[in-house]
Amino acid sequence: MKSLLEESRRLDPTEAQKLWDLDLLTLGAAADQSRRRLNPGNRVTFVIDRNINYTNICMSGCRFCAFYRSPGAEDGYVLDWDSLAAKLTELKAHGGSGVLLQGGLNPELNLDYYLELVDFIRGFGLAVHGFSPPEIFYMAGKNALSLEELIRRLMDAGLGSIPGGGAEILVDRVRNQISPHKCSAGQWLAVMAAAHRQGLKTSATMMFGHLETRAERVEHLVKIRELQDETGGFTAFIPWTYQPGGTHLTGEALGAVEYLKMLAISRLVLDNVPHLQVSWVTQGPKVAQAALKFGADDFGSTMLEENVVAATGVGFRLTRAEIDTLIRQCGYEPQVRDHRYRTFEGPRHQEQ
Ligand code: SF4
Repeated sequence: MKSLLEESRRLDPTEAQKLWDLDLLTLGAAADQSRRRLNPGNRVTFVIDRNINYTNICMSGCRFCAFYRSPGAEDGYVLDWDSLAAKLTELKAHGGSGVLLQGGLNPELNLDYYLELVDFIRGFGLAVHGFSPPEIFYMAGKNALSLEELIRRLMDAGLGSIPGGGAEILVDRVRNQISPHKCSAGQWLAVMAAAHRQGLKTSATMMFGHLETRAERVEHLVKIRELQDETGGFTAFIPWTYQPGGTHLTGEALGAVEYLKMLAISRLVLDNVPHLQVSWVTQGPKVAQAALKFGADDFGSTMLEENVVAATGVGFRLTRAEIDTLIRQCGYEPQVRDHRYRTFEGPRHQEQ
């Protein structure tokens, strides 16, 4: 296996599965080499943003989710415009360039609401990195629009990029058990393909450590790699571990070794996705630092606000200064980017 890594050619699924047999440091060194090939130099990027969850009302009821409330629940909400404005003003004051905008599949919201929401945020000079594929698939179905038409309407309103949420594991055997009312693996990929065809960049995620097998994790990676071969529209891959607190699925959270191995394997298999992001929000700052030696070149975001992982009881928080320090402590140079992974120097960047 070591010799295969030295050949630096594309790994097939069988070879990728064998990577788990390697010891942790050998795997890390190979992933680091791959990271340096794709991202030469010493730069580690991050974005100044906040996650805004415009509604927690969701008809999907995923078993791993501690955030959602069923339609009609007393503590369900749709964010009011004044609260949203206050959040955007605060983000601007922190030098933010954009918002990661996601919410539940809320049957009460119509297309005009989503378009107004995007337009409202753009009015503050902030980019909208918004609506994961399950939301887009749900909106398209509810409004009887094709994926292409819906995405075009959102882009016209100012949508700048799409976050890769809701991927979980892109294998329907797993999805049918953990999120049976959400879009299928093929539908998730179809949303991303439609976005990429219209020039919209997206990220991709994987939530692992629940019901899936390692073979199914590799299947997930290969599906991302195949679509990326066709479209080139993925900017980054973000694997993170399932957090069981407060969920119906329950179980145990995976530890650091399995996380770091998965991160390194992602870097080695996804030879065509430029960036790999650490998940400090689930792993904490120390494992996130180690992750920079396991293929990652991006530290995620300042996440001035985060609600979804926080609902499971995992409460890591980091300021911009702390992220800077954590990156520098590992011998890297921190570099602020935007949601499309464009880097910039000097005064706060205004998204186009
Ligand atoms: S993960 Fe998303 S789609 Fe699933 S229940 Fe939570 S909010 Fe709804």
